[in-house]
Amino acid sequence: MGASYYDILNIPRNASEKEIKRAYRTLSKQYHPDVCKEEGCEDKFKEINEAYSVLSDPQKRAQYDQLGHDVYTSASKGQYTGGGGFGGFQADFGGFGDIFDAFFGGGGRYGQGRGPQQGAYLLMRLQITLENAVFGTDREVEVFHSEPCPACDGTGSATKKTRTCPRCGGSGQERRASQTPFGQFVRMSTCSQCAGSGKIPEEVCKECNGSGHVRVRRTVNVHIPPGIDSGMRLRMEGYGEAGDYGAPSGDLFIEIAVAPHKRFTRSGDNLETTADITPAQAALGSVTEIETIDGRHIELHIPPGVQHNTALKIAGEGVRRRGRPGDLLVRVKVVIPRRLSEEQQKLYARLMELEGTKPGTAEAHRKGFFQDVMDKVKESVK
Ligand SMILES: [Zn+2]
Ligand SMILES: [Zn+2]
Repeated sequence: MGASYYDILNIPRNASEKEIKRAYRTLSKQYHPDVCKEEGCEDKFKEINEAYSVLSDPQKRAQYDQLGHDVYTSASKGQYTGGGGFGGFQADFGGFGDIFDAFFGGGGRYGQGRGPQQGAYLLMRLQITLENAVFGTDREVEVFHSEPCPACDGTGSATKKTRTCPRCGGSGQERRASQTPFGQFVRMSTCSQCAGSGKIPEEVCKECNGSGHVRVRRTVNVHIPPGIDSGMRLRMEGYGEAGDYGAPSGDLFIEIAVAPHKRFTRSGDNLETTADITPAQAALGSVTEIETIDGRHIELHIPPGVQHNTALKIAGEGVRRRGRPGDLLVRVKVVIPRRLSEEQQKLYARLMELEGTKPGTAEAHRKGFFQDVMDKVKESVK
């Protein structure tokens, strides 16, 4: 059994939203992989973020309290790492949005103000086929992002040396005074010369104009795990925008969109398709052939007396996620023939005789139709 989210954040179960936020701030700073060099910090950092993403959302927190840690985490999480030896890969099945927002909203992992800032996150959308989602795939995507300038090693200085910013004296902040009818206001703002870093290049690098960053197009190989669904995000660590000198790059998030399929729809881990059958097949039962999503032909047994729109299950032919396969549901559509051969007509007539129902005539059909129209006209006149 895993430690509860409350234990992870070291707060009581009745902690207020403020207490949760405070605990998260303190711990995430303490365990941030760039600050904490002890073993296990990264895992601890992930745990803290996960705990915070749930407890900071009143709705999720209520659900978590109700279900308990084990049930909640196995039901809602499903974050898995790995996949073809790609180190920075992480598939995320829900819940990450909050961590995402927390980082954006909080002004980056390094907090407000001082110190080198980590690069911004990038979000990209990638459309894949349903087959790709079911079986997983590898895709190359092009990212246009900033990287540390190779000419100056990201320092922005041709000599790779920087000096203290003369405008702010290295504080990264400057005072700005403005006159208003109510008097003079002074506020602190980010230094306009050094953009808050407190340092300026000794000699401006010509390649990057002193920014320390250059924009490059990179091809990234993305491993898409089987079972992925629309809206899920893959995280590629370090493929976002370059950070300030001395800080890591941001991450790239790839949001998956699964294109609609001609024959299959998906609901959770199940796939659904349809099979047209005749009234005789429905009445007597039958065997028909179904093509699976990977193109195999398998037999579907239709029980006698099956009703229109009934879903018949073929076990294990759905979406395979983390080794567990979903099912294929085949919805039976009974299609009534529009044209009958003479022989068929005779047989249907014989069926009607047996049922004791009356056949219609062409004339009766016309009358019926006309009567129907007249009734509708009357109704609308009323
Ligand atoms: Zn400055
Ligand atoms: Zn440069």
